[in-house]
Amino acid sequence: MGRVVVRAPAKINLHLSVGPRRSDGFHDLMTVFLAVSLYDHVTATPAPGLSLSVRGEGADGLPLDDGNLVWRAAAALAEYAGVPADASLEVAKDIPVAAGLAGGSADAAAALVACDELWGTGLSRAELVELAAGLGSDVAFLLTGGMALGTGRGQLLTPVLAAGEWHWVLAFSSAQLSATEVYAELDRLRGGEPSPLRAPDRLINGLRVRDSRVVASALSNDLQPAALFLRPALRATLREGEQLGAQAGIVSGSGPTCAFLVGSSRAAVRLAAALAGAGVCRTVRIVHGPVPGARRIP
Ligand code: ATP
Repeated sequence: MGRVVVRAPAKINLHLSVGPRRSDGFHDLMTVFLAVSLYDHVTATPAPGLSLSVRGEGADGLPLDDGNLVWRAAAALAEYAGVPADASLEVAKDIPVAAGLAGGSADAAAALVACDELWGTGLSRAELVELAAGLGSDVAFLLTGGMALGTGRGQLLTPVLAAGEWHWVLAFSSAQLSATEVYAELDRLRGGEPSPLRAPDRLINGLRVRDSRVVASALSNDLQPAALFLRPALRATLREGEQLGAQAGIVSGSGPTCAFLVGSSRAAVRLAAALAGAGVCRTVRIVHGPVPGARRIP
């Protein structure tokens, strides 16, 4: 087997309800994931032992050993399948790091698919999903892609039916945000108030019948107040995007990326140009979703 190239998408959360902090430190979630057309690529080639290189968006400073989710994914697969972890892995990143887009999880999902192909281990989808869930809360979704309701820590997935494509403009920040820090800030802001999980019924209905007004008004993210507290400049980004014509704007996951819903690909081009000119973000990207999860490409 020669080279295997796998691409995996970023995700945004259209609904992110965060329950109370559990005794294991995690929070129960009820979230609607959408996989969008912004991709990292993982290339696996035969080599003795495991080695890793990373280039692209935010590559500097990422660990190149078992601190990297790609390494951990390859090692976990090798151990599970009982094969030597022999591969040279190259990651090309378009998904910014610590941006609320789950780039690390996308890379882990891509590494599982790439190594499974390279080593001919032939795991079932269910086995891959189980390994993915052990690597991180978002990895299982990025293996599957599309649109899904995530519960538990986000790893228990049920597909969400959605009519057609949804268009978005992503505004990247020059700052990063650690998800751990944002969850801790949320706990602090809540100050022990009860925080029952909210179900995304209105959103799911709007997605199913393709009512963009309902979808725009039903987007919600419990982590947004915490992300805005830690990065107050994001308020201006959200305000500007909505003033420039977005149907709605939301912080993606733990941030600091902001995601703006628009009605068409033409509206996306207009908003992206206007936002780029407004100086409220580092750069913009136009994406659509749902797209498939980690897949081999020729
Ligand atoms: P999350 O909510 O999953 O923390 P995020 O999108 O905010 O997601 P990621 O880009 O996934 O952030 O990375 C979070 C942290 O994981 C980074 O700070 C980085 O140190 C670590 N990490 C490990 N492997 C990777 C990788 N391949 N790509 C990006 N980050 C990685």
